[in-house]
Amino acid sequence: MFIEGLNLEKSYGAGEVKTEVLKGIELKLNKGEIGVILGPSGSGKSTLMNIIGGVDRADGGSVSIDGIEITRLSDDQLTEYRRESVGFIFQFYNLVPNLTVSENIEVCSNISKSPLKIDEVLEAVGLLDKKNRFPRELSGGEQQRVSIARAIVKNPKLLLCDEPTGALDFQTSRSILKLLQQVNKKYGTTILMITHNGAIGAMANRVFKLRSGQIVEETMNQTIVPAE
Ligand code: ADP
Ligand code: ADP
Repeated sequence: MFIEGLNLEKSYGAGEVKTEVLKGIELKLNKGEIGVILGPSGSGKSTLMNIIGGVDRADGGSVSIDGIEITRLSDDQLTEYRRESVGFIFQFYNLVPNLTVSENIEVCSNISKSPLKIDEVLEAVGLLDKKNRFPRELSGGEQQRVSIARAIVKNPKLLLCDEPTGALDFQTSRSILKLLQQVNKKYGTTILMITHNGAIGAMANRVFKLRSGQIVEETMNQTIVPAE
């Protein structure tokens, strides 16, 4: 197993205001697979993803990524894991407004030990001709492509996407999903994606349905539908 999350528990607050956000989650995904987490707002999706990405820590249970139990790493080791091995994509692109497309990607390639070439990732996302533009000069879909390029320039083993199409129209969403599938194929990157959109499950190897901090359904997909 590439991702192996076992009996994960997480609470916020204490005493009377204590909220149990994750109540014994089990999540497994093979290397090179695409996993989708579906669930209503507040069900714990982002918390789960943050723990897998080394942004947050679980209170109980364990997570191993590619054979390394990240729940046992020191803070410094966890930071290194997050920097080297995980690419993050969010609903809002979080690009630096006063840096060009190319410079936005360079910021991330500089912190990696074995980055891909900036022009290679720009070509992979179809934006080589816009490398010297600023984010405000790009459409939403193009800005999301830049954020994908920025995430993959580190050549991460794992790509975590939190509502990557949440701010995009239907057609643009499809093209972003198609791009994520291409990245998955081309680089063998394992992808875990949060979405509200049940239709996206068709492109995943496994779909996890989360409700109030528990996985209430897990589906394995035999026939992956490519995004058009
Ligand atoms: P989802 O991504 O499914 O919308 P989240 O993981 O963001 O759910 O949040 C799950 C629950 O945990 C929510 O009730 C939220 O208010 C709470 N929560 C998330 N992060 C924090 C935090 N840092 N402090 C306190 N409560 C939090
Ligand atoms: P979409 O239909 O995807 O929302 P837009 O209509 O926002 O796209 O943009 C269409 C094209 O115009 C894009 O290729 C984008 O790069 C370019 N563009 C949008 N805004 C600007 C701008 N302020 N300056 C230069 N080019 C822009």
